[in-house]
Amino acid sequence: MPLQINPPLADLADDAVAALKSTFDQDATVTAAAPGRVNLIGEHIDYCDGFVMPFAIDRYIVIAATTNDLSVARVSSGDEPPVSIPLREPATPGEPKWANYFRGVIRGFQDRGHTIPGFDATVVSSVPLGAGLSSSAALECAIATLLEGLLDTVLDTREKALLCQKAEHDFAGVPCGIMDQFASAFGQTNKLVLIDCQSGEPDLVPFENPDLTVLIANTKVHHELSDGGYAARRKATEDGLAMLGKDSWRDVTLADVEQAWDRLGDPVNRRSRHVVGEIARTVAAAKALEGNDFEALGPLMSASHDSLRDDFEVSCKELDIMVGIARAIGRSGGVIGARMTGGGFGGSTVTLCESSQAEAIASTLAGEYEKATGIVPEIFASRPSQGAHLI
Ligand code: ADP
Ligand code: MG
Repeated sequence: MPLQINPPLADLADDAVAALKSTFDQDATVTAAAPGRVNLIGEHIDYCDGFVMPFAIDRYIVIAATTNDLSVARVSSGDEPPVSIPLREPATPGEPKWANYFRGVIRGFQDRGHTIPGFDATVVSSVPLGAGLSSSAALECAIATLLEGLLDTVLDTREKALLCQKAEHDFAGVPCGIMDQFASAFGQTNKLVLIDCQSGEPDLVPFENPDLTVLIANTKVHHELSDGGYAARRKATEDGLAMLGKDSWRDVTLADVEQAWDRLGDPVNRRSRHVVGEIARTVAAAKALEGNDFEALGPLMSASHDSLRDDFEVSCKELDIMVGIARAIGRSGGVIGARMTGGGFGGSTVTLCESSQAEAIASTLAGEYEKATGIVPEIFASRPSQGAHLI
């Protein structure tokens, strides 16, 4: 059984409620869920005014909670010991690190003028951690949705996603773009979330053809470089844009980059070429989807992976191996396209394939990857699913 099952959301909710009972001896009054995401195309350009095309996956973080009589939030997740977060003063980052997602989102609500009541909360998750599927954004969006429930208020979805992004910047120290939180907050069943990262406007694109399946393959590796690597890539794109004398990457052409190649110098010239090329590829992919031309996605996903590997240098051996196996299966074996997805340096690949071949493809990906690396990957299929919501 190489294709793993996505645990039903109702089961996760039951688990979260049971955990609240066993950890804090409390009955849940509010339960919130938010999904991870996978990005079909448009990588590392959400912080470059680009277009990105993720969708919310049917893997969720669920939090069960209820108010307490204390002025603290007591939060727990899995085997982590419960953490107490004082609520009388504005939240600040601290230890343990995982609780900073709570602190950051709480702070976002405090900055909006809300007084957070004391509460107990337990977290359960089916989003693999650090696998390029944005468990961090899922956690932030689940917390924000939980606070909406506890405060009996509803934020504008865009404002909620931006509040979560700010929590990731200020409390997790990751200078991320807007893709992950937008995908988790705006996601809908059978819809891709095409985001214009310049205007900050999401556009929901239908994606419901049952003949197509999206396979997600978690390589199970996570290279250390990811921490500094992400910030370094973002910095290189900022340097490139400044050297090109433009205000937005949307105003830069491939010819601009090629003309300035030597002046930009290596690696900024290659980083710049990735940004400009990836924006064009994502626009082309969106157009192809509009015309139901799924086949056109294959070469675009392939070019995206090569650019991330060679120009942006955020792939790694294991991601290249997984994509290589999908490429070897090829169109005749049912594979339409494959690429790394997410921030890179490990994590997952995304493979668009024919549904009738999905099981066989998953089996080959799992078998060949294990043969090449000795690592058993985690492979599952996902359809675009509902974004953050109260259960
Ligand atoms: P990704 O977002 O790609 O999964 P990140 O490194 O951005 O990877 O986020 C992973 C971090 O998010 C974890 O190290 C942990 O701090 C936090 N996190 C994610 N899921 C959970 C969870 N279920 N319980 C507690 N913390 C979690
Ligand atoms: Mg993350």
